[in-house]
Order: sequence, then structure tokens, then C-alpha cells
Amino acid sequence: MRRHLDTRAIHVPPTGPLSSRPVSTPIYQTSAFAFDDPEACAEALRHPDRGHAYIRHGNPTVQTLEGALADLEGGAAALATGSGMGAINAVLLALLRGGSHVIAQTRLYGGTYQMLHDLADRFGVGVSHVSGTDPAELTAAVRPESAVLYLETIANPTTSVGDLTAMLRAGRAAGLIGVVDNTFATPVLCRPLEHEADIVLHSATKYLGGHDDVSLGIAVFADPELHRRVWRFAVELGVTPDPFAAWLVLRGLKTLPLRMARHCSNAGHLARNLAKHPAVSAVHWPGLPDHPDHARAQRILADYGGVLAFELAGGRDAAAAFLHRLRCALLSPSLGGPETLVLHPASTSHRELDAEALRAAGIGEGLVRVSAGLEHPDDLWSDFEQALA
Ligand SMILES: *Cc1c(COP(=O)(O)O)cnc(C)c1O
Repeated sequence: MRRHLDTRAIHVPPTGPLSSRPVSTPIYQTSAFAFDDPEACAEALRHPDRGHAYIRHGNPTVQTLEGALADLEGGAAALATGSGMGAINAVLLALLRGGSHVIAQTRLYGGTYQMLHDLADRFGVGVSHVSGTDPAELTAAVRPESAVLYLETIANPTTSVGDLTAMLRAGRAAGLIGVVDNTFATPVLCRPLEHEADIVLHSATKYLGGHDDVSLGIAVFADPELHRRVWRFAVELGVTPDPFAAWLVLRGLKTLPLRMARHCSNAGHLARNLAKHPAVSAVHWPGLPDHPDHARAQRILADYGGVLAFELAGGRDAAAAFLHRLRCALLSPSLGGPETLVLHPASTSHRELDAEALRAAGIGEGLVRVSAGLEHPDDLWSDFEQALA
């Protein structure tokens, strides 16, 4: 008997199997998969790598992205999440327990810093900060309950570059799990697993997605057992990304190396011109020979990144006037997209800090952070030049 329209509208048979393959990864916008036999369903729930059952456990579009990132970073497996903070928290909460100790770089992404100190307040997690350039300082900070060493390849906003290789080696010798936030460098500029990191983290909201239109995070693991441990916890935590978000990042990845080349060359063009400008008292970009971490950056990075920062000699008022006069670059708190974005850290991302804490973090009142976009370099510099005049 032919079914009623109401039923046919619901039970639409999917097309397939196809005799050809899609060129672009399809978006599997489904929250669940159906099975012919209950044992197969149970098996898929237990082993997301062998079958799909429920969206929080695994989805083909999301897993395609995880496979791509594992490959680009040189890892065994990856875990995608709904945001960069989702990946950071899934990893930290899976690896730490009450009383655990974390050794983290001093200059950290604001959300990560906040989260670590929240864990300290509420669950008694110990947190020690180290410069990221001195493995002896790290070794001295190790306690019996130390579990994680947490670093960033290029730190915000003054683009400092720590000694990744020496720090990770010292951390591993002390039995710590080495975690590196590689958001600013991307696997195009640095692959921390090659420097003996255990886990690499990304806010794919930035360069990997690359178009200012998606929120997604990813953690890449050298060891499949560690991946499984964090994945199991992430399923409980519920930080699954949407398949469409994963698809947008997959699309972004196709042009990542091309975009990074332009981001880096545009950042260099701005940095070199700013360094010559009389209104500018300092420029922070690791590609400049006088950047304090230039030699280290040369060793660790394939290029110097798309983010720079500069200090206006006129302080906060000069920074405000500069931001107000820009016509092409946009004032916005993100980075890594096609549009050049600028930010005044002292009044936004680091507004909680008083004048002294700002100085300690190397952030002046006149500091402007720039995420160099993909525009023509001449248009960018003429925009900056007229805004500095
Ligand atoms: C943006 C960012 C994050 C957080 O990522 P979201 O996608 O915003 O959650 C973490 N680390 C770094 C270095 C970032 O720039």
C-alpha cells in the first residue's frame, strides 16, 4: 500500500550508493543514524571510528575535518569542538583533577588564563606561570602533582615566541603532558607535535576557518589513547561542533597555506612601514630583526605570522584617534580572517588589568593589535598612514 503524504514527507529515501564521489565533502546535517541491527548500533556508539550513531559521539563531516587536522599537524587523531575554548576546556578538564598542578606560560590567551584561575579557585587546581623561554625555570616549578605544561606558539598581543623545543623537552622529562595552543601559527608555520608536544589546540574560529564566519575548536593528539580519553570526556561534556561549522572550516583549510602567505607578507609590510613612522614608538612582529624573539621565531616558525602590534607614542588618546580614523581596517576583537582587524588591548581584551599589570604584560596604553588581512598591501598601508597623520 502506498503510504500517506504525511509519512512520505518524513521517510525520504536518501540517494545512493553513488557510482561517483563528491568533490566537496558533503554536510551530514543529521543528529542520528539508523541501523538494521541493535548490535551494530551499540558498536557504533562505543567506537565512533567504526560507525556513526549519534551526533555528540561522531559525525562524518566533523570526522573528515578531524582527519584533515590530524594529518596537517602530524598527529594520530583529532577532536573538533564548538569553539576554541571548548577544545581547551575539554582537554584541561579531561586531564586534570582537584589538586592537579598546571605549569603555564605567563602570556596566555585571556580566556585560557581566566579558565585556569577559575579551576584553581573552585577545584583547587594549582597554577604556576613561567616565562616560556627558560627550561630550568620550568623544571624548578615541577611538583609531584604537576600534570600539564601549557604553552602558546605565538602569544598575544606582543607576539612573543617562547622556546617551544626546550620547554616541551623539559616538560616531557618531568612527566608532564605538553599542550600547545597553535592558533596564531597554524600548522603552516609550526607543527608543535614535531617539537614533542602531546596535544595541539586551535581556535579554528581564526585562521583555519579563515573567513570570520564560524566558531570551532580542535585538539590534535600524538597518542591515540590520549585522544580516546579526551574524546570520551568531550562526549560527556557535550562540546560537539555543528556539521555545517565543520564544513566551513574544511572549506577554509583548502586555502590555508595561500592565505597564510598573504597574511604574513601583509603583516611584514605594515610592521616595516610602522617601524619607520615618527608617531610609532615600538613595533612587535617576530619577523623584525630587533624583535626580542626574532632568532627563536626564525628557528621555530616557517614564517612570522599575520598578527602584529604597535605602540603609539601619544598613548591612549593617540590610539583612540588612530582607530577612529581607519577607513579600511575594522575595529573588532577577532583575528585570522580576510579583513584586517585592529584592537586596543588596554581598553578591551586586557581591560581588567590596571596600569601596572598592563606594563608587566608588556601592553602600553597606546598599543594597537593588528590582524593583517588579505587586502592589497598598498591599500592597507595608505589606510594606516592617513590614520596616523
Ligand atoms: C580566540 C582564541 C582562543 C579561543 O577560541 P574561541 O574559538 O574564541 O573559543 C584560544 N586561543 C587563542 C590563541 C585564541 O586566539
